[in-house]
Amino acid sequence: MTFKDERRSMVQAQLERRGIKDGLVLDAMGKVPRHEFVPPESAGIAYADGPLPIGCGQTISQPYMVAIMTEALCMKGGEKILEIGTGSGYQAAVLAEIAGQVYSIERHATLANRADCILKELGYSNVHITAGDGSLGLEDEAPFDGIIVTAGAPSVPESLKWQLKEGGRLVIPVGGRFMQALLRITKRGEFYDQEDLLGCVFVPLVGAEGWDG
Ligand code: SAH
Repeated sequence: MTFKDERRSMVQAQLERRGIKDGLVLDAMGKVPRHEFVPPESAGIAYADGPLPIGCGQTISQPYMVAIMTEALCMKGGEKILEIGTGSGYQAAVLAEIAGQVYSIERHATLANRADCILKELGYSNVHITAGDGSLGLEDEAPFDGIIVTAGAPSVPESLKWQLKEGGRLVIPVGGRFMQALLRITKRGEFYDQEDLLGCVFVPLVGAEGWDG
């Protein structure tokens, strides 16, 4: 099977069959070469149904979780999106297929540099990566149509809520260090709606509005 075939069967078996319906998300994940974002020795299992190690003790999320989180942002195309936790850069590439501009922050400079190189090589000129603590968001570029946090937080960071546009959505795993609930927070005027989407397991968000390092 070629990587393209593996990707097609990932989209069908892991995403469509489990209820992912958003055509923009399915198309994006059918395009992004996930095998380019994992360490070379894992390329053969890049499309498997689970997370994979990417170095620095971090992981690239399971394809289904990437799809659920992207779908939860309800993008229509052209949005300005902030991602916290670049990791491999894969989620950023999926977002970049749909959004207008994607800003992504990664705490580990090694991972940030590697993701930046891969994304540039693949031609994703609408992804902008910064190394640093993303728990405070990216004030200079705020507000955002959507913010996605791919690491687990002890509580919803206030800075991220403030950086949402009216009607904007924040998708974030919140809970304990080893298990969280995936939340979607939507800004409605002065208020924030909160929905609990599903249980999940993410590496910790480490930073000023996250866990201690
Ligand atoms: N979205 C990634 C998966 C990331 S794993 C992908 O598609 O591959 C979570 C990442 O969040 C890790 O790389 C971790 O280093 C990073 N992280 C944790 N706390 C952070 C913080 N405060 N700011 C930025 N990145 C953080």
